[in-house]
Amino acid sequence: MVEQLNILIEESKKSYPIYFEEDFMRLPIVLKEKKIANKVLIVTDSNISPIYGEQLKELLESCGVETYLFVFKAGEKSKNLDTIESIYEQCLKHRLDRTSTLIALGGGVTGDIAGFAASTFMRGIHFVQVPTSLLAQVDSSVGGKVGVDYCGSKNIIGSFYQPELVYTNVNTLKTLPEREFLAGLAEVIKHGMIFDYDFFVYLEEKAQDILELKADALKYLVKKNCCIKAQVVQQDEKEQGLRAILNFGHTFGHAIESSMNFSLLHGECVAIGMALACKLAYTKKMITYEEFMRLVNLLKLYKLPTEIKGVDPDKIYEEMLRDKKQMNNKLKFILPTGIGKVIQTTDVTKEEIIESFKDG
Ligand code: ADP
Ligand code: ZN
Repeated sequence: MVEQLNILIEESKKSYPIYFEEDFMRLPIVLKEKKIANKVLIVTDSNISPIYGEQLKELLESCGVETYLFVFKAGEKSKNLDTIESIYEQCLKHRLDRTSTLIALGGGVTGDIAGFAASTFMRGIHFVQVPTSLLAQVDSSVGGKVGVDYCGSKNIIGSFYQPELVYTNVNTLKTLPEREFLAGLAEVIKHGMIFDYDFFVYLEEKAQDILELKADALKYLVKKNCCIKAQVVQQDEKEQGLRAILNFGHTFGHAIESSMNFSLLHGECVAIGMALACKLAYTKKMITYEEFMRLVNLLKLYKLPTEIKGVDPDKIYEEMLRDKKQMNNKLKFILPTGIGKVIQTTDVTKEEIIESFKDG
């Protein structure tokens, strides 16, 4: 049975499918079905290329698709305009045109880079995402944000560009470093906490299958996450601001990320941020101690950090304010009112924030 989810893009009344598969075999078929198998440039990073890049190129070629491969050095540092220029060069060299397709094979970094190149080359060529990290499978494949960093600012140059389709092969997660996998799970837990009590329970009950990377559990998990994110993003069109709930754990998380000089992964900071936000909500009597502990225990079950030691809470608070200044608005928090339910509030004092860093 083909598992597929259709993501509707409200503004354009168009939709694109996300496929949930256990190998790459059907990719050439779906490209042909969509009539975007004319000429393909696969963009991937230096970690992923030896594992999947060559393999995918051979598969497409064996199905008669003219295919080229462009590899950039793995890491956020490559998310810049130089890499974009190198992709344009490849596009010109291999004479890609508006009937050609750019495939992003990799994590979030690859998706951002390849998507931006696809959105701008000849004012936009076909774009297909083949996400290989959990974060990219559950997060970047819905929302259409693409872009690069510039002059020290993250994602400062970019656009919204929707893919023609997303092809998720959950078995690629078997080669993803464990730390990256667990960090991706932080955003998964976030989706349960902000929107879906039953999914939160699923994560509590199926931890073993998920941690053992059982394909069925992974397919369900990735699909459910895409659904939740799509629902939030789509409802935002009607219910202005709903999208903000995706920032749960991120007000603390971003401040921790920069206070720690980016030594922790984004998902790890979000995990700590979610635990702190729950602690704050508990302090404000918005949730019970049991609910607060349920989130902490779920994070621990997935080997994620829930607290931060050796960092001055005042420093993190300053970092939050700095972020706020940059955004030119008030310090906003997404806080739970139960499991599966959150609200947005600015009604939080400095004392309450500092308090949430204390033990117990
Ligand atoms: P993100 O976490 O946003 O997806 P990256 O694109 O940088 O960020 O991916 C995280 C790291 O994991 C990178 O070093 C990338 O090369 C590596 N990676 C991504 N997918 C896989 C995979 N399936 N197997 C092995 N390494 C992978
Ligand atoms: Zn995030």
